[in-house]
Amino acid sequence: MQENNIYLDGIDKEFLEGNVEYALTLEWNLSDGKSIDDHVHCVICMRPMKENDGIRKYESENEYMDVFCFDRFIKKQE
Ligand SMILES: [Zn+2]
Repeated sequence: MQENNIYLDGIDKEFLEGNVEYALTLEWNLSDGKSIDDHVHCVICMRPMKENDGIRKYESENEYMDVFCFDRFIKKQE
């Protein structure tokens, strides 16, 4: 978990907060990964995402988020 969360380390705090603020305006649903292509990054931590990387993903209209960011920034605020 800690290792997989490495993308959150070293991210500029204001950049991160801006991303979280934006993400909170969107509605997130669990993704099946099918619509993920090579250019998709987590909207919060910018982690590159792939369909079969074993990381649970959430999706909004045109955005994606990994489970680490979702659990940390989105889920607890519901
Ligand atoms: Zn992320």
